[in-house]
Amino acid sequence: MIDVLVVGAGPVGLVTAIHAALAGLDVAVIDPRVGTIDKACGEGLMPQALEHLCGIKVNPPGIDFIGIRYIAGNKSVDAKFTKNPGRGVRRTILHDQLRNRALELNIKILDGKVRDIIQENSHVEAAGIQCRYLIGADGLHSTVRSQLKLNIPPKKNTPQRYGLRQHFTIAPWSNFVEVCWLPDAELYVTPVDDQTVGIAILGAETMDFWTIIAQYPELEARLRSVDPASKLRGAGPLRQRARARTLGRTLLAGDAAGYVDALTGEGMRMGFEEGKAAVESVLTNNLHTYESEWRKITRSYRILAGGLLWASNNRLVRPMIVPVAKTLPSVFTRIVNTLG
Ligand SMILES: Cc1cc2nc3c(=O)[nH]c(=O)nc-3n(C[C@H](O)[C@H](O)[C@H](O)COP(=O)(O)OP(=O)(O)OC[C@H]3O[C@@H](n4cnc5c(N)ncnc54)[C@H](O)[C@@H]3O)c2cc1C
Repeated sequence: MIDVLVVGAGPVGLVTAIHAALAGLDVAVIDPRVGTIDKACGEGLMPQALEHLCGIKVNPPGIDFIGIRYIAGNKSVDAKFTKNPGRGVRRTILHDQLRNRALELNIKILDGKVRDIIQENSHVEAAGIQCRYLIGADGLHSTVRSQLKLNIPPKKNTPQRYGLRQHFTIAPWSNFVEVCWLPDAELYVTPVDDQTVGIAILGAETMDFWTIIAQYPELEARLRSVDPASKLRGAGPLRQRARARTLGRTLLAGDAAGYVDALTGEGMRMGFEEGKAAVESVLTNNLHTYESEWRKITRSYRILAGGLLWASNNRLVRPMIVPVAKTLPSVFTRIVNTLG
C-alpha cells in the first residue's frame, strides 16, 4: 500500500507528486502515455506558476515574457507584470523537466490507465494499486471525476469552446504574450525559444486554424513563409464542471477539478497550487479543508475567466474589450497581475 497514487502525469500530476514526495509520502504517478507528453496549450507560465516551479527546484528553459498585450485591429494595450516575468516553455520540455525532478525524488512513474476506482474506508484501489489517498489530475475529461460521479453536465444552449495550437520556426518578435481578439476567436502568440513561437487559438469546435489566422493578416504574412515546428493539436471542450473536489479518499486537482476556459492562461498556476493544497490536506488526514482551499485558489480565475468568457460571447460587448482595456490601462494591468 502506498500513501498517494496520482492519476495523470501532466504538469499538475507531476507537481502534485513532487509535493507529496517532498513531504515524505510514498507516491506513484500513473499515466497511459509513456515518454514525453505533449498537449495543446498556450504554454505561458504566468509569474506565479514559474515561481512555484522554482520553489520545487524545477527551472524549465524557455523565453521570459514581461506581460500580456491585447490586440484588436490597429489597437493594442500592454499590461506589464509588476514583479517577475512569466516564461513561455514548450510542454514537452516542461514535462521532461518535471519528470526528471520526480525521478530524482524516487517517485514511481507507472504506465497504465485508471478505469475503475474502488473506495474503501481505509484505502482506495485503482489499476491494481492500493493507496491511502488517490489524487485525480487526469485532465479535462477526467476518468476519476466521472468514476466518482462528480461530473456536472454542460449547460444546455451554452456554446462549447475548444483550443488549437501549433508551433512555427521563427524568432520571437515580442517580449509579451500577444492575445489577439479576432472576430471569431482569440489567438495567442507565445515565444517558447529563440527560434520558435507557439500559436494557440480558442474558439468554436468547427474553427479552422488557417481561416482564423487569415483574420490577422500581419501574422499570416509572417507564418506563411516559415516551417511549422510541431503538429497541429487540439483540446476541448474546455468548460468542465465538478460537484465537489473530494469524495471519500479521493481528491481532484488541475483541469480534472473543473475548468472555465483558457482565456486567462493560468491553468497551470492554479493547478500547481491545487496540487500543493491537496497534499497538505492528505498530510492532515482532513480532506474537507481541500474544497475551501480549492475555492480560494480558483476564486479570481472563476470570476475573471467567467466574466471574460461572457464578454467574448456577447456580440455587442466583445468588440469593446480591447478599447476599454486601452482606456483603463491601470485596471487592465491590475487584472493581469491578479491572475499572474
Ligand atoms: C489552447 C489552450 C491554451 C492554454 N494556454 C495556457 C497557458 O498559456 N498557460 C497555462 O497555464 N495554461 C494554459 N492552458 C491550460 C493548461 O493547458 C491546463 O490547465 C493544464 O494542462 C492542466 O494540467 P493537468 O495536469 O491538470 O492536465 P493535463 O495536462 O491534461 O494532463 C492530464 C494527464 O492525465 C492523463 N490521463 C488522462 N486520463 C487518464 C487515466 N484514466 N488514467 C491515467 N492517466 C490519465 C493524460 O494522459 C495526461 O497526461 C491552455 C489550455 C488550452 C486548451
